Amino acid sequence: MPIYEYACGACGHELEELQKMSDAPLKTCPSCGKDELQKLISAAGFRLKGSGWYETDFKTKKAEPPKKSSDTPCATGACSACVAD
Ligand SMILES: [Zn+2]
Repeated sequence: MPIYEYACGACGHELEELQKMSDAPLKTCPSCGKDELQKLISAAGFRLKGSGWYETDFKTKKAEPPKKSSDTPCATGACSACVAD
């Protein structure tokens, strides 16, 4: 059963309501009593989808950099650490 989010256009009150698809949308704000409730796009489903995509994307992009066979501290061998001895 999907969760619908509503926001009141009169007082800004927000609420979530478990409803069947066939249920009539809520209209009356429980906070101020006016028929100003508006259905919002569910953020819960969107968030789950978004984080899942991000995790997958992050893992595929995080590739190990190739290890250098050189035992010098820097790439060139010419820095002060390499030539100290
Ligand atoms: Zn209200």
